[in-house]
Amino acid sequence: MIKLHDKYFRPFLGEAEIQMAVRKVAGAVAADYKDQVPIFVGVLNGSFMFVSDVLRHYGHPCEVSFVKLSSYSGLTSTGIVETLLDVPENIEGRVVIILEDIIDTGRTLQKLVHLFANANVKEFRIATLFHKPSVYNGEYAIDYIGMEIPDRFIVGYGLDYNELGRNLKEVYQLNQNYMINLVLFGKPGAGKGTQATFLRDTYNLKHISTGDVFRDNIKNGSDLGKLAKSYIDKGELVPDEVTIKMLQEEVEKNPDASGFIFDGFPRTTAQAEALDNFLDSKDMKINATIALEANDEVLVHRLLERGKISGRSDDQDEEKIRNRFDEYNEKTAPLKEYYSQAGKFHSVNGIGEITEITERIKNVIDKL
Ligand code: 5GP
Repeated sequence: MIKLHDKYFRPFLGEAEIQMAVRKVAGAVAADYKDQVPIFVGVLNGSFMFVSDVLRHYGHPCEVSFVKLSSYSGLTSTGIVETLLDVPENIEGRVVIILEDIIDTGRTLQKLVHLFANANVKEFRIATLFHKPSVYNGEYAIDYIGMEIPDRFIVGYGLDYNELGRNLKEVYQLNQNYMINLVLFGKPGAGKGTQATFLRDTYNLKHISTGDVFRDNIKNGSDLGKLAKSYIDKGELVPDEVTIKMLQEEVEKNPDASGFIFDGFPRTTAQAEALDNFLDSKDMKINATIALEANDEVLVHRLLERGKISGRSDDQDEEKIRNRFDEYNEKTAPLKEYYSQAGKFHSVNGIGEITEITERIKNVIDKL
């Protein structure tokens, strides 16, 4: 395992496998164009190693040039593609073979095609060393593919994570298992919000509160928000698949997070299973469930005090508060069971100074 910046990567492809894929591309291009002196156009920065190895294996007359676009920041496509180094001169009437290190969503490719659209080349071919078919938009046919790979972030052999890793001889894959994904439980007043903020700042975790996600989606009128609202308006519960989809979007929006804190979800065993399945599909998992425990009498006192300051009506009525506790007990009991069986349930004493409680949570996480 290697570490680049804040992330861990595990070995994925060795030198021999990479060279086999390079040779495959060079051989296929040679079979088609060995008599036509093609111009290989590498897409910088990532393709520099690929270009040099393709040329080494090509073995026929050819030329080489480069273009440079910028589209990536961190682990995900930003969607914004700029030209930093333009189309080479004197390519009119020539055979151009684009050499890409990796084609992922295809956004960069689209820009490349546009870039060459008015160049009057004789033939325009696209070759890529790596291709992620499961995320590719399929807009253009890719003429030469070295190797198809799953939708996981890779580094090495020219490919970087925030500029590191380009000089690795082998290719490494992001190790998602190194993330810390938590489920946070706690009765109203137990200090979940405060502790979530601490966890977010200390461990670079993204706090996903289902309530907030619902409200944001509905407010922004997203498709999922509209769908959720249609159930809410009918007085029905939003189906788990819809909630999971929203969570999925939150997770995908934050590829740089070192993990996630799920707050307000799951609330049932079925939801816990759905969450596990979703995370599994991303090669992720829940590492721990932390329940902030506090005695009801202490919490009632805390909430009544909070209600006096905030004016929140549900914090001013002792009976309502106790009802929320009963509901919490009823709902979380099966989840306690579910996560205990997986050895992931951790009960943390939520009474004391904030810093003391923080320390208790830190102890749990640092032992994971
Ligand atoms: P696309 O525009 O097809 O989504 O992405 C193409 C560009 O994104 C590539 O040229 C490369 O710079 C970057 N990219 C896509 N997937 C990966 C990956 O798994 N690892 C690295 N390091 N860069 C990637």
